Amino acid sequence: MLANKRLVVPACKKCNVEVFSELEKKISSNLETEADIWRWANKIHFGLSLKDKFYDWDRKNPGYKIGIL
Ligand SMILES: [Zn+2]
Repeated sequence: MLANKRLVVPACKKCNVEVFSELEKKISSNLETEADIWRWANKIHFGLSLKDKFYDWDRKNPGYKIGIL
């Protein structure tokens, strides 16, 4: 299995701080519900799908960071 620990997915501040940060805290401290696991799995699936979609473009623009354009 391949894992990308540096996977960055664009999100607004509210989603990043309130929604996903809380979700990550629950998952990492084993306080998650079954619904949290589904949300987390969907988050990872979305991130990997997004990364896949831009793979060729990313390889052609290695210095690009989200927010530059
Ligand atoms: Zn948002």
